[in-house]
Amino acid sequence: MQFRDLHRQYEAMRAEMDEALLKVTRGGAYIMGPQVAELEQQLADYVGVKHCITCANGTDALRLALMALGIGPCDAVFVPDFTFFATAEAVAMVGATPIFIDVFKETYNIDFADIYDNIDVCRELGLKPRAVIAVDLFGLPADYKMLAEFCKEFNLFLIEDGAQGFGGSINGKKACTFGDISTTSFFPAKPLGCYGDGGALFTDNSDYADMLRSLRVHGKGLDKYDNVRLGINSRLDTLQAAVLQVKMRHFDEELAAVNRVARKYTELLFGKVTTPCVPKGYTSSWAQYTIQTDNRDEIQARLKAAGIPSMVYYPRTMSQQTAFAHLKQDPCPVAKRLTKTVLSLPLHPYLTDEEIEQVVSIVLTT
Ligand SMILES: *Cc1c(COP(=O)(O)O)cnc(C)c1O
Repeated sequence: MQFRDLHRQYEAMRAEMDEALLKVTRGGAYIMGPQVAELEQQLADYVGVKHCITCANGTDALRLALMALGIGPCDAVFVPDFTFFATAEAVAMVGATPIFIDVFKETYNIDFADIYDNIDVCRELGLKPRAVIAVDLFGLPADYKMLAEFCKEFNLFLIEDGAQGFGGSINGKKACTFGDISTTSFFPAKPLGCYGDGGALFTDNSDYADMLRSLRVHGKGLDKYDNVRLGINSRLDTLQAAVLQVKMRHFDEELAAVNRVARKYTELLFGKVTTPCVPKGYTSSWAQYTIQTDNRDEIQARLKAAGIPSMVYYPRTMSQQTAFAHLKQDPCPVAKRLTKTVLSLPLHPYLTDEEIEQVVSIVLTT
C-alpha cells in the first residue's frame, strides 16, 4: 500500500498527461511557456481571486510574500509552532524573527489567543509585529474569520500558507483566498501536486501582484534588463504547468473522492482514537488524515509490520528545531504534546474501501 499513490493517479489520467507533456517538449518554450499564464488564470478563477502568480516551490512562495510585504530585519512574524519547517524558515530567510504560537488541539491550526499573549513579547525583544502566517494544516483552513479581525485590530498582515490547503473552503469560500497574500505548494504529495517542485501566490491586490511578478524574476522592471530591485529566480517550469493543467481537470473529482475516504476512516475510527475535526461550514482538502492516540508508536510499529506506511507529521515543534535553538523560545504546550500523539494514515483519492478497512483493523487491534 502506498501512503499517497501517485502512480495510480498517473494511470487514471495517463493519455492526457502524456499528450500534455509531449506538447511542451515539442513546443520548446520551457521557461514561461503559454501554459504558465493559462494555468495562473485557471487557478485564480478556481479559488476566486484576481491574481495568481506561480513560482518554483511553496517555500519560495512564502518568501516572496514576505518580500512583497516589505518584511525583514527587526520585524516579528507569528507562525504556528506546529507546522512544516518551511513556514518558519521563510520568515528567517528574509531576516525577520519567527515567533512561535500554539495551535488548537482539535484543528491543529494557529490559536489567535496565543498571538495576543505574544504581542508584548515582540516589543520586549525590540521587534515590530508585522504579520501572521496561518497554515491550513493537513488541509483544513485556519479560523480566518477570527484571524482577519485580529490582524485588522493589531495592524498585521495576514498570510495564508495554503501549501496543504488548496481545495479546502470555509462556507464556500476557497482556501488560498484568505490572506492579504496566500500561498500554496505543488510538491507532488500535496493536494494539487505536479511532477517536481512548484508553488503559487494568490492575491486580490494588484500592487502586490505586480511586485510579486517582478520579485520572482530577479526584481525585473518594465525593461527586462533593468532590474529595479533585488528579487530571486523562482518561476514555475512550463512542464509543471502542463502537468497541473491536466490535474486541474480531475481536481474536483479527486477532492470528492478523498473526502469520501476521510469520511470512511472517521466512521470506522470515531470514539476509538481522536479523529480529525472539521468544523461546521469547513471543508478540508485532506493533505493528511491525522489521528491522535497515546499508543502512537505501538500502532505505527504494527502498521509497519503489516506493510502499511504511516507518518508522524510532525515529530518536532518549530521551537525544538536545531536551526531555531538560538531563538530560545519554549515549545508551546499543545504543539509539544501533539508531537507525541499524532499519526497520519495512508490517504489519497484512489484508496479503496478494502484498503481503508485493512488500515483500520490494524490501528484498532489491541
Ligand atoms: C510543503 C509545505 C511548504 C513548502 O512547500 P515546498 O513546495 O515543499 O517548498 C510550506 N508550508 C507547508 C505547511 C507545507 O506543508
